[in-house]
Amino acid sequence: MAICYLCEKGELKRKKIPYAMYGEHLGTFDADVCTSCKEQFFDEKTSEKITAATKAKGLWGLGTQTRIGQAGSTLDIRLSKKIIEFLNLKKGEEVSVYPESKKRLIVEL
Ligand SMILES: [Zn+2]
Repeated sequence: MAICYLCEKGELKRKKIPYAMYGEHLGTFDADVCTSCKEQFFDEKTSEKITAATKAKGLWGLGTQTRIGQAGSTLDIRLSKKIIEFLNLKKGEEVSVYPESKKRLIVEL
């Protein structure tokens, strides 16, 4: 019986779990799920399947690094073309921006 790599307490049990990225359902995949901390581990073959599903849905590479720029006395954050297309953003569109924590900024369309 395999022991969890993360908490080293729970046992890993093979389960089929639904997997989503950016709120888009990608499918159901085999995972080893810890009975204690509930962490999910995917083997290499399953990770490849998830990557393929991510690419098929056009979600691959949506998460990118960007820099904070300056426009007068305010700051702006540039968005990649991929994100603009995925979210169908238009110039002049109003969005709500608020911090979820000191480390996370939410932009709501
Ligand atoms: Zn665990």
